[in-house]
Amino acid sequence: MAQMGYDSAEKFDGEDACPICLCEFEDAYQLESCGHLFCRMCLVGQLESASKNLDSFPICCTRGRCRAPILLTDLRSLLSSDKLEELFRASLGSFVASSRGTYRFCPSPDCPSVYRVADPHTVSDPFVCGACFAETCTRCHLDYHPYLSCEKYLEFKEDPDVSLQDWCKGKENVKSCPVCGYTIEKGEGCNHVECKCGGHVCWVCLEFYSNSEDCYNHLRSKHGGIA
Ligand SMILES: [Zn+2]
Ligand SMILES: [Zn+2]
Ligand SMILES: [Zn+2]
Ligand SMILES: [Zn+2]
Ligand SMILES: [Zn+2]
Ligand SMILES: [Zn+2]
Repeated sequence: MAQMGYDSAEKFDGEDACPICLCEFEDAYQLESCGHLFCRMCLVGQLESASKNLDSFPICCTRGRCRAPILLTDLRSLLSSDKLEELFRASLGSFVASSRGTYRFCPSPDCPSVYRVADPHTVSDPFVCGACFAETCTRCHLDYHPYLSCEKYLEFKEDPDVSLQDWCKGKENVKSCPVCGYTIEKGEGCNHVECKCGGHVCWVCLEFYSNSEDCYNHLRSKHGGIA
């Protein structure tokens, strides 16, 4: 969508058409940051579809080469609070995915917090999540383990003796997202898995895609089907 607006605006030098639908403005909306005009519904459509594609971030004005960031005030006046929340989560996912391992999600399911990964050569403080209060080791990303090194703690976790056998049993269908490291779980049948970061991952070869369509295309062409 953003791409479309960008290309087409090149042909339209005039400012008399909406950069997204290329038609006359309908219920014109002026962006706070750069003053460019759009149809209100076209902008809403652009923002709503942005949540489904990691490549949409950061969200910018699509008029010509403007690329001015769309400000929070605009997002607030254009989107319902549900859609705004969805967009925030998606932008956070995109942030984590593009940080290339510098940031990770709080490991609690459905918790949107992120933390900075510790340098492996320093003593690290735990990440205490402000949203769910879970304490996580910022080096090995397991539960915080005071007085034990990450290596020792992992050994303990992997000891087949411990009750953790049960923990492992339920975890056969678990892998890590190749981009953000978050635990992903395979659902029934389908080999397309969506990660917390908003990425779409091929379960078979852990190939990463920024939207579901690309992932499904990969599954069909490389693995002969989506299941
Ligand atoms: Zn329009
Ligand atoms: Zn602009
Ligand atoms: Zn949390
Ligand atoms: Zn650790
Ligand atoms: Zn991910
Ligand atoms: Zn694959």
